[in-house]
Amino acid sequence: SGKLKDRVAIVVGAGSSGPGWGNGKCTAITFAREGAKVFCVDLKRAAAEETVGLIEKEVGKDVAVAFEANASHNASVKAMVDACMEKWGRIDILDNNVGIGSQGGPVELSEDEWHRVFDVNVKSFFLTAKHVLPIMEKQGKGAIVNVSSIASIRSPKGISYLAYNASKGAVNSLTMAIASQYAEKGIRCNAILPGLMHTPMIDFLAEQYAKSEKDHNQAYEKMIEIRDRASPTGKMGTGWDTANAALFLASDQSSYVNGHLLVVDGGITLR
Ligand code: NAD
Repeated sequence: SGKLKDRVAIVVGAGSSGPGWGNGKCTAITFAREGAKVFCVDLKRAAAEETVGLIEKEVGKDVAVAFEANASHNASVKAMVDACMEKWGRIDILDNNVGIGSQGGPVELSEDEWHRVFDVNVKSFFLTAKHVLPIMEKQGKGAIVNVSSIASIRSPKGISYLAYNASKGAVNSLTMAIASQYAEKGIRCNAILPGLMHTPMIDFLAEQYAKSEKDHNQAYEKMIEIRDRASPTGKMGTGWDTANAALFLASDQSSYVNGHLLVVDGGITLR
């Protein structure tokens, strides 16, 4: 049973740990709960294994596999796709969830940092699509879910995340280009634009901000509070909110939804 029964999903960036959990970890678990076999990929092997361990405990054995790969490296992505094909022989869902945050406006940002952010946040989505699309095309069916961000369409005054914003804008364009080109082959490609979700990434960015402040703990708490208040709901979202949107976009329930940018932010963008 389940909305993804007999489907094979690759979740890239499926590790992450800490309070709140990451978007990819929650998505991998949600897909497995809905009947999918899940290939859990992360740069950090231990983090991917932790996700697989949680799935095995809750859903059962032979449902999830951990795989270490660098999604920004062509050879590594090819190895990932080959390994998934060898294991399960098909790929129905590609969930691209890799991403790093980065602070700084055009003046502060170094050229190296710009390249690093684009390598992780954009090139990885291009490379995974490059290797998965021919397989989906042969199957005549597939769904790609790209995790973007509301940072792609909104840049409030205050702390600047120039490279991050621009990289997520590129993710939106890439999503729409694939959606349009592959629709007639039975492949859909959509993006999720999460708002502020309390994941390890948010803790890392709050931590980075607090480092420069005298009273570190107070600065950290303040940053978390500001982020909670950013949403009209008064709270940040969680990885499970992203995961539920990913489930919709990966399943047949969204079979006529293609090239869509789905905002999941509790209404932050309404402000
Ligand atoms: P996270 O850091 O917990 O998850 C990202 C995972 O990707 C980590 O496990 C990391 O090890 C892995 N990763 C990084 N580079 C990789 C690479 N080159 N190859 C393979 N794996 C790699 O953070 P998260 O908050 O869960 O973020 C997941 C996605 O959600 C990102 O794309 C992020 O930009 C996006 N997002 C997050 C928020 C938020 O508020 N947390 C908001 C909008 C968008």
